[in-house]
Amino acid sequence: MLRVGLTGGIGSGKTTVARMFETLGIPLYYADDAAKRLLNTDPALKSAVQQLFGEACYTNGVLNRSYLASIVFNDAEKLAALNQLVHPATIADANAWFLNQESTYAIREAALLFESGAAEGLDYVIGVSAPAPLRIQRVMHRDGSNEVDVKKRMATQLQDTIKLKLCDWVVTNDEREALLPQVLSLHEQLTLRATQPRLQ
Ligand code: ATP
Repeated sequence: MLRVGLTGGIGSGKTTVARMFETLGIPLYYADDAAKRLLNTDPALKSAVQQLFGEACYTNGVLNRSYLASIVFNDAEKLAALNQLVHPATIADANAWFLNQESTYAIREAALLFESGAAEGLDYVIGVSAPAPLRIQRVMHRDGSNEVDVKKRMATQLQDTIKLKLCDWVVTNDEREALLPQVLSLHEQLTLRATQPRLQ
C-alpha cells in the first residue's frame, strides 16, 4: 500500500481535497485532529507538555487549548518546542494507522508535513495551492478570525514557493480550475502506481 501525504498552507483547501479522496473510498489520516486527540490521551505527551508549559495546560486531565495556544502562538521558540513534542507522537500514531489500512493507498493530511519531518516516511506527496489573499479570506470566513491573526499563523509555515516544489503533484484550488477532475486524475495515477512496481 502506498503512503501518500497531502499538504498545503493554511486555507489552501487540504481538507476540502481530502474529503474528495474520502468519497472515493481512500482512508484519510488528519494530523491536526490526531494531534488534538493525542494531547488528551497520550500520557507521555501530556506529562511532557505539563512539564514544559505548566500544570495549567490541563484542567481535570483535559487540555486547555486556548491557554496553550495563548502561550505558543506569541512565542516562536515555545511553538517550536511544542511541535517537537507533538510531531513525533503524531508521526508514530500515523505510522501505526497506515499499517492498519487495506486500500491501495492511504493519505495523511497535514499542514506541516515537511516542517515536521513526516514527509520522509511517505511514497508521494500531493500539495494544494491557492493564492495567499484567497487563503486569508477563506480562513477569516471559516474561523471568524482577523487578517492579522491569519497572517501570523501563515508566517509559522514553510512558504508555498518552497513547499510546493517538494511535492510530487500540485492541486490548484484557486476557485477557477475545477477540483474534482484534478482529484480523479490523481486517484487514477496513484491506483496505477500502487499496483505497479515503482520505476527507478
Ligand atoms: P487549514 O490548514 O486551516 O486546516 P485547509 O487547507 O484544510 O485549511 P479547508 O479547510 O479545506 O483548508 O478550506 C478553507 C476554507 O475554504 C473552508 O471553509 C472551505 O470550505 C473553503 N474552500 C476551500 N476550497 C474551496 C473552493 N474550491 N471553493 C469554495 N470554498 C472553498
